[in-house]
Amino acid sequence: MIPGSFSYHRPSSVQEAVGLLAKLGDDGRALAGGHSLIPMMKLRLAEPAHLVDLAGIADLKGIRSDGNDIVIGAMTTQHDLIGSDLLGTKIPLLRETSLQIADPQVRYVGTLGGNVANGDPGNDMPAVMLCLGATYHVTGKGGERRVPAREFYQGAYFTALEAGDVLTAVRIPVPPAGHGSAYEKLKRKIGDYATAAAAVVLTMSGGKVATCSIGLTNVAETPLWAEEAAKILTGSTLDAATVKKAVAAAEAITAPASDARGPAHYRTKMAGVMLTRALARAKAKARG
Ligand SMILES: Cc1cc2nc3c(=O)[nH]c(=O)nc-3n(C[C@H](O)[C@H](O)[C@H](O)COP(=O)(O)OP(=O)(O)OC[C@H]3O[C@@H](n4cnc5c(N)ncnc54)[C@H](O)[C@@H]3O)c2cc1C
Repeated sequence: MIPGSFSYHRPSSVQEAVGLLAKLGDDGRALAGGHSLIPMMKLRLAEPAHLVDLAGIADLKGIRSDGNDIVIGAMTTQHDLIGSDLLGTKIPLLRETSLQIADPQVRYVGTLGGNVANGDPGNDMPAVMLCLGATYHVTGKGGERRVPAREFYQGAYFTALEAGDVLTAVRIPVPPAGHGSAYEKLKRKIGDYATAAAAVVLTMSGGKVATCSIGLTNVAETPLWAEEAAKILTGSTLDAATVKKAVAAAEAITAPASDARGPAHYRTKMAGVMLTRALARAKAKARG
């Protein structure tokens, strides 16, 4: 339960952090809130010789509008997301999801950047970012690049980040006014990771679904974007038969592990139940 020894670095700019991480290679690791990394180090599942703490980099914090996007600095905490009036008005799904992550103590320190960069399929924000069509700003040795969240996750703890990369911000297109959204998460107890969870953002027009996007958490090695299920729902009134068809399509792309949260078949079915609930709640919130 005691981590291996490591050297601690506290850069004050992104360039300095990238330089350090590039020089340290596999021996270095970015440290954000530490609420995923430190437990892994205590279990000796991660043994970085150097930690590069991002907490001293002011540019990595904050939430701002940029045209029709909202840009959130990687070191913005889950607590900050909950308290943001801008997000509460424009993208309420982020507040709703943040409130379902762990407990207030974790949320005071855990960051959005750490949550999405970690690559743990149990993290809640990645599927929400797939659902919202977010893009990650990444700075590395070669400068800045933008990676769509839908292309970022490659396997459990395996992402598009390369050695030396710092994820600096998350850019999210604001969903249309009048959209409805919901994040439904089944967990064994308060503070637990999801047995299965579903994020939905949709718009309605004339009583029918005009647009729909769905993300699923912790039912595969990566978060899932359920594109086919959303297509089935588009143009429907969300009648029971169509929802059933869409849920079957969403369940078909899952491949959860059997673990302490239940056997694989159960977790797939729970993803379907979470999706059904999220669709109903998102519809109830949508105008049009
Ligand atoms: C008791 C407990 C319960 C929890 N429950 C949940 C839950 O229900 N749902 C959930 O989603 N999470 C949960 N978490 C995890 C929590 O949300 C973490 O804070 C979060 O996953 C990681 O964010 P962090 O800022 O702590 O990152 P860290 O732990 O510091 O980093 C995590 C990983 O991401 C890398 N990293 C971090 N920031 C960057 C960056 N900007 N650029 C490049 N790489 C970076 C680090 O090198 C590390 O590999 C829980 C944690 C605890 C301790």
